[in-house]
Amino acid sequence: MSWDFSTEPEFQQKLDWMTVFVREEIRPLETLELTWPQLLKAIAPLQREVKAHHLWAAHLDPELGGQGYGQVKLGLMHEILGSSPLGPLVFGCQAPDSGNAEILAAVGTDEQKRRWLDPLLAGEKYSAFALTEPDNAGADPVNLQTTAVRDGDSWVLNGHKWFISNASTADFVIVVAVTDPDAERHRRASQFIIPIDAPGLDVVRDIASMENPSPRENTYGSHCEVVLRDVRVGADALLGNPGDGFLISQKRLGPGRIHHCMRWIGQSNRAFDMMCERATYRFAHGNVLGEKQTVRNWIADSAAEMQALRLMTLQAAW
Ligand SMILES: Cc1cc2nc3c(=O)[nH]c(=O)nc-3n(C[C@H](O)[C@H](O)[C@H](O)COP(=O)(O)OP(=O)(O)OC[C@H]3O[C@@H](n4cnc5c(N)ncnc54)[C@H](O)[C@@H]3O)c2cc1C
Repeated sequence: MSWDFSTEPEFQQKLDWMTVFVREEIRPLETLELTWPQLLKAIAPLQREVKAHHLWAAHLDPELGGQGYGQVKLGLMHEILGSSPLGPLVFGCQAPDSGNAEILAAVGTDEQKRRWLDPLLAGEKYSAFALTEPDNAGADPVNLQTTAVRDGDSWVLNGHKWFISNASTADFVIVVAVTDPDAERHRRASQFIIPIDAPGLDVVRDIASMENPSPRENTYGSHCEVVLRDVRVGADALLGNPGDGFLISQKRLGPGRIHHCMRWIGQSNRAFDMMCERATYRFAHGNVLGEKQTVRNWIADSAAEMQALRLMTLQAAW
């Protein structure tokens, strides 16, 4: 039984290496305004180094080229990687590609794995996941309106999606669409793998976000509006069985929630360090900010909240 809140020494060594690597090699890239192709070129040598350290695509099982680490180790890795928006990309475990790889591995046919999963894992293709729609609450996706209608050997998709991360740089997108409107509400939707250049699929724009208030075209980290107008795909585009859309989504959301939480803790750690650093030299009204009681309270409260969140997330992972 282990209940000592410490990481085994061999794995801690890997985490220590990651901490330095993210700080020294990855974060400096954030200061460059690189287009997507330029970024891919810049990170290629770093991705090779990650692979040499056996830390590439660690969310997957060894037979898929991953490390089979399980959620606690992955959580600790994501805490470090989340401190930079480029961290997960360099380690081959960025959302939404990691979740897409998980569902392709879980329910994809051999042919779908060969065509989509293998290049995704190799870092040769990138992907997006399109569930959320502007006219329905994303928190309650049983109200989805995007449809996929069977027409002979094809499916024809129509709908409107938004906040679709990385759609403007993706090679393919997994779209959730209603295939049986009369079914029980969690059995109505199915998932489809669609090449991003499929006729009728339009990546309309990158939506502004807090991270990126003025998005530039062809850069990493977009959250896009996507319209599907009579997008026709073959029967082989269907992922899993008709009606399994929600079931498949849960396979990605369980681990995905933990990864997201740990990445946000990594972001919080970085912001916290900046706050503490600033407090040591900003001089106002007779002394530095860090000597004022209110600022000290803010710092202490932040540290306590972050520690509580970290332990809760790691317990969920465990
Ligand atoms: C940066 C970013 C990236 C994203 N990437 C993707 C992506 O790649 N693919 C994709 O499909 N989607 C993506 N999304 C969309 C995301 O999944 C939705 O924003 C999310 O599901 C919430 O849906 P909504 O925005 O429609 O909010 P709503 O569902 O309309 O919620 C509005 C408010 O109501 C609250 N609320 C909702 N239900 C309840 C309830 N039962 N009780 C109390 N309060 C409630 C919510 O907390 C929220 O404050 C992304 C969003 C963002 C911001």
